[in-house]
Amino acid sequence: MHLASTAWPDAAAVDTDLALLPVGSTEQHGPHAPLGTDTLNAEAVAALAADRYESPVVVAPAVPVGVAEEHRGFAGTLWTTEDTFRAYVRDVVTSLAHHGWDRVVCVNGHGGNVAALREVCARVVRHDGAFAVPFTWFDEVGEHSSEMGHAGPLETSLLRHANPETVHADRLDEAAEGASDRWGDWQGGVNLAVDSDEFTENGVVGDPRDSSADLGETLADRAAEALCDLLDAVATRDPAPR
Ligand SMILES: [Zn+2]
Repeated sequence: MHLASTAWPDAAAVDTDLALLPVGSTEQHGPHAPLGTDTLNAEAVAALAADRYESPVVVAPAVPVGVAEEHRGFAGTLWTTEDTFRAYVRDVVTSLAHHGWDRVVCVNGHGGNVAALREVCARVVRHDGAFAVPFTWFDEVGEHSSEMGHAGPLETSLLRHANPETVHADRLDEAAEGASDRWGDWQGGVNLAVDSDEFTENGVVGDPRDSSADLGETLADRAAEALCDLLDAVATRDPAPR
């Protein structure tokens, strides 16, 4: 059940305590992919899992702006501070819990959100009478997880499967030419780069020419399956503050 397209009496009637909160970002994804890539991909995985799950799951509207200041060198990128992001996510999760949907998975599409999401979910579990946990889709696609760059083969494939009209296929060569093969500017184990334009000319890390709609379908399938397994586990958790 997608809240944004549901009337309140129908929301009141849904029999579940499970909710998915897609969490995205509005940030550069190279010359070939849209600024909303992380939001679109998080929404696609959440929708597929909710569809497949054996009992009803509430799907909240996505959080569209996240912790993405590292991409500020590229036009259109928006961001919040980690403090604002955590406070906002916490408010949304606790408002879901207010209606009885007190076991919430934050379905994340952006690497920069991971640390803040982990912290805010733990805070919710400890203090707020809800159980919340982060799930980042590209960490849950088996051996493909190691191919994650930025606007590279994984993200571009999922777009080509779920939102194909958003990808500029005629710019994939250009995207690959200006790409970096690694995230960051490293000295030993230390990343000296603060912003992504310090190490990638056009914002891409990885080779999006390796993307395909077929791979995207596989990725969506694996991520949704992992998310359904996670929902099974979350359904057994006690949301009482500890
Ligand atoms: Zn992304």
